[in-house]
Amino acid sequence: MGRCGPDPARPRTGRESSARVADDRHRCQPTDRKRPAAAAVAAAKYLAAKLSRGIPALAGEPIPLPAGVLKAALGELCDRLAEGGAGQTAIHIREAIENGSLEAGSLLTASLARDQAAIRAGATHRGLSADLVWLVAELAVCPVAFALQRTLVFDSRHEVLQNAVGQWSHGYCAACGSWPALAEVVNGHRTLRCSFCAAAWELTTYACVYCGQSGDGFVTAAPDAERKDRRVELCASCGSYLKTVDLPAISPFPLLSIADLETMDLDMAAMEHGYARPRSRTSSQFEGRGGLHPDRFEVLPRFLLDVFVQAVAVRIHRHNGGKILHR
Ligand SMILES: [Zn+2]
Ligand SMILES: [Zn+2]
Repeated sequence: MGRCGPDPARPRTGRESSARVADDRHRCQPTDRKRPAAAAVAAAKYLAAKLSRGIPALAGEPIPLPAGVLKAALGELCDRLAEGGAGQTAIHIREAIENGSLEAGSLLTASLARDQAAIRAGATHRGLSADLVWLVAELAVCPVAFALQRTLVFDSRHEVLQNAVGQWSHGYCAACGSWPALAEVVNGHRTLRCSFCAAAWELTTYACVYCGQSGDGFVTAAPDAERKDRRVELCASCGSYLKTVDLPAISPFPLLSIADLETMDLDMAAMEHGYARPRSRTSSQFEGRGGLHPDRFEVLPRFLLDVFVQAVAVRIHRHNGGKILHR
């Protein structure tokens, strides 16, 4: 593997009507209208406080999922995977979901919580491929995760939350806690891309995203000396790697998983040298790092109801498109 020294990427330092109304119900409308706004402000402050403690915004939250829509997506994904070569392995998963042996709601909730251990145990117990069950659930629920991270976190219009996101200095995603799939370097800016919700963020330091190592044990290498635009960051301290590619623009959400697949040769090169991508922590593991606000079950889910209208709309749009991924 050809070592090419320090990566050229440079870190960026961080950042009513006048008509009369006759009954009490109508007179109460202005007050009712204020509640969603107040809930949104409370949710933003609450999420900012979590981020300031290094806890991803969605970690540990009892987020309701549109299970009916997503269950249909699970079946469709199994069919596509079966057609694509997974065969009976994928068909068995579809059958388990349809006959209720594998409960779709629990599976999707575990996926959103990034609880790989629970999904693997459940799949193995039912004689199903754990890797394929994880993949199917992740593909089905990731559009919701994408809508949540955009609406709730990264595109928030609340300054307190914008500031908290701008100051996020961890290698894991500020929304869902997953590690990045890869780093996309555009005009010298090294942007980490979440492997689950497709969030995009930059760090103020150039170091291992997993352990923070920035010394001699952290190097950037190009497996193909002729393609120095495609690299891997290797860390001797934690034995992990991160793929890094130069691009004219960062990949849009539906295409990010394809970008991950397109760079599989970089995964192979790193793994051949003994490096690995660490497994993401589950929501509960983050919750264990300092605890959460005691009002979490009242503040955020109420606000989330509005957000889920958008999340479901995203999923239905894609479902109606008849494609698993836009191209
Ligand atoms: Zn994420
Ligand atoms: Zn490391």
